[in-house]
Amino acid sequence: MTGEIHGASFEDLVAFFRRPVPGGFPVDVVRECVCRSCDGRRFEVRVMDTAQAARRTCLECRRHELIADSVEYWDDDEEVQVRCACLCGEEEFAGAVGFSLREESDDVRWIVVGLRCLSCGRLGVYEAWKIDWGPSNYLLDLA
Ligand SMILES: [Zn+2]
Ligand SMILES: [Zn+2]
Repeated sequence: MTGEIHGASFEDLVAFFRRPVPGGFPVDVVRECVCRSCDGRRFEVRVMDTAQAARRTCLECRRHELIADSVEYWDDDEEVQVRCACLCGEEEFAGAVGFSLREESDDVRWIVVGLRCLSCGRLGVYEAWKIDWGPSNYLLDLA
């Protein structure tokens, strides 16, 4: 797989998650990032230098919300936060979270944060981390 991938919708992001990646793991469920306060779907997103966690900030209501179990790891110290930026330089995104589930249970095995640049449409994976505890299926509702 080479080159950039662009999209225009949540469905494009789902297809992006589902494309086969050499050595990768299957993404079983994809959930769109929707502001839990105002239903907004445009975000600024930060990850962290020091841990694997992601926080999105709704561009409509400015509310911060943490993705999946990020609440356990998030540090409010801005020094360790990294603001996600597209290759085009813009920092506003639509997002979705891909979940890889364990076969023997419905527990979440991997979390993948994918973003679609609202300016140029480029799709990318900006963070991913492993979940090795359970029950963790409720994380599906914390995209
Ligand atoms: Zn909002
Ligand atoms: Zn872009």
